[in-house]
Amino acid sequence: MSYNFYGNNMAKQLLLNINKSNCLSHAYLIFGQDGLGKKTFAKLLAMTIMCESDKKPCLECKACKKVISDNHPDVKYVLGGESKNSLHIEKIREIKNDCIIKPNESEYKIYIIPNIQNMTIGAFNAFLKTLEEPPNNVIFILTANNIDLLPQTIISRISPVQLFPLSPKELEDALKTEFEDSDIELVYEKIENIVPLCNGNMGLAKKYLLDDKFSKLQQDSLNLCRLIAQKKEYPILKYVTEFEKNNQDFYILLEQILVHLRESLLIKVTGKSDVKEEVSQLAFSLSKSQVFNLIEFIEKVKIKTQTNANQSLMIATFVAGLKEIIG
Ligand SMILES: [Zn+2]
Repeated sequence: MSYNFYGNNMAKQLLLNINKSNCLSHAYLIFGQDGLGKKTFAKLLAMTIMCESDKKPCLECKACKKVISDNHPDVKYVLGGESKNSLHIEKIREIKNDCIIKPNESEYKIYIIPNIQNMTIGAFNAFLKTLEEPPNNVIFILTANNIDLLPQTIISRISPVQLFPLSPKELEDALKTEFEDSDIELVYEKIENIVPLCNGNMGLAKKYLLDDKFSKLQQDSLNLCRLIAQKKEYPILKYVTEFEKNNQDFYILLEQILVHLRESLLIKVTGKSDVKEEVSQLAFSLSKSQVFNLIEFIEKVKIKTQTNANQSLMIATFVAGLKEIIG
């Protein structure tokens, strides 16, 4: 795991402030969409609090190393909140009973609770009481991917740390640093393709680079273009239904289809011919206005994938919309 933390200067300022003044809050909430590095930042914050060196977090001292390897006896992870309503009141009671016990070897005891948006109402209420009377030397580091799901009473009692997506340039530089040991030419080409599609989300970009999912999505987009050219509604529906559970993949798939549609327009206008077979099929079987309408329609669906819209409904609307345009 890399502890390079890119962009997010405001969040990093918090670590610098702790270094300077050692002034600590009894609870921090690190929030932002998945893939922005909440877990990494929570660990960096825990290290900064526990670090024994002057320049915190040094990543080298005994305390830092224990946090890095998840073996620090005074840094506890509260797991189990992976899905909606899965963090129950019993977990909070356990923490309440545990946090009155003195730290083992440090001045502080830290509880890292990821995904607090998944607390039940009972758990929120119990946790609120703990936050109202914070035990001595106990620090909570909480994370949430959606702050709108948290009660205002909780938010008002914790120090918020928002994580933001990186700019395209920051993301590109960060990926080049992270993958500098790989086959440079190959990886640089992929990075250039991926950066415009990831909205500054480092976790997502790394995922696509690591498991080569991007190449698969590129192939998927070509397969789908072939089906669109053949105007086969049922196979299209079958194909895109597989994306029901993954908004982000669907977004990238649409983004790639748009690239092919624009290429097919170029074929129509300029007679350009050095394109993939599937793209010429699109140009051959669709009229110019159909391609224009498709581009406009897919752009709209693409925006919807970035909201919390019902994914099954979106897929159904997508296929129905396609059918209407291509006939
Ligand atoms: Zn250290």
